[in-house]
Amino acid sequence: AEESLRQSQKMEAVGQLTGGIAHDFNNLLTGIIGSLDMMQRKLARGQQIDVNAYVSAAMTAANRAAALTHRLLAFSRRQALDPRPVHVNRLILGMEELLRRTLGETIGLEFVEDPQLWLTRCDQNQLESALLNLTINARDAMPDGGKLTIETSNAHLEDAHEAKLRDVMPGDYIAICVTDTGVGMPPEVVNRAFDPFFTTKPIGQGTGLGLSMIYGFTRQSGGYARIQSEVGKGTVVKLYLPRYHGEHESSQEPAPAPLALQP
Ligand code: ADP
Repeated sequence: AEESLRQSQKMEAVGQLTGGIAHDFNNLLTGIIGSLDMMQRKLARGQQIDVNAYVSAAMTAANRAAALTHRLLAFSRRQALDPRPVHVNRLILGMEELLRRTLGETIGLEFVEDPQLWLTRCDQNQLESALLNLTINARDAMPDGGKLTIETSNAHLEDAHEAKLRDVMPGDYIAICVTDTGVGMPPEVVNRAFDPFFTTKPIGQGTGLGLSMIYGFTRQSGGYARIQSEVGKGTVVKLYLPRYHGEHESSQEPAPAPLALQP
């Protein structure tokens, strides 16, 4: 719980940082567009202008924006993935307290675990961030209260093509299904929800990075993510992570004795 709390504080800091960068970036773009627009209008009116002054103002802002992007990229690279075998049920149980506190008193939380859940292999911190982000989104979608259900299950993908999923391999996955009874999303929002910086929240509240980071994390882990949503009914976000075969459930199990060669 201590670790999860630290993680949540870190995520909040990340949110503020990226939100701040998005805001600064936007301001710089506004400056660039403003300079170009002014120049274009004056030229159209046949006015004499100091082209050089406008171009260098736009250039300065563009260079600053490029420097910001570099900083953001350097930051995201620092959060390198550290994939290890993960017991997802255990991980979720460890976060329960934090998730309940995040949801507040008007939103219920139910965890439906598959006791036979396979192991997966992924970066545990990133998975925790993903679940916290989904919980925050769900909370925001249920201002008048509601219910959040987190369900785990084993999933076998027979045929990626049939499932209309490009770049996804058929095979065994574990599924984490996060369902809320909130406001839902119209199809045009569902279609853009994974895009970086796409948000419908007021400036300063949404960064538009939560779902895009979740998408990136699942893809980098060899899995995938999907959203199903209906306006007025609620939203389901499903994360699929690949089954991990390399290690048995119980680490106490003795390693198989090496075969002795008989002379
Ligand atoms: P942010 O939460 O900062 O806006 P996200 O990438 O997490 O960024 O989400 C993008 C958008 O997707 C949100 O602004 C919201 O419109 C929509 N969204 C995400 N999760 C939900 C949800 N559980 N219910 C309804 N809409 C959602």
